[in-house]
Amino acid sequence: MSCIECDCLVAGYLDCELAELELAGFHRHLAACASCRSHVFAYRRVVILLGEELRDL
Ligand SMILES: [Zn+2]
Repeated sequence: MSCIECDCLVAGYLDCELAELELAGFHRHLAACASCRSHVFAYRRVVILLGEELRDL
């Protein structure tokens, strides 16, 4: 999987919508690619923050 493909899967990953095969490839890429890993962590933090904001509305 390339970084671009990985990037395309991040939103689906955070919504738990990836197929098993996609998820396996995604995890394999993250294990090998530090830049995508930090990207996913940053993205997840934003999603969590947004979720907390929505809960307070
Ligand atoms: Zn990557």
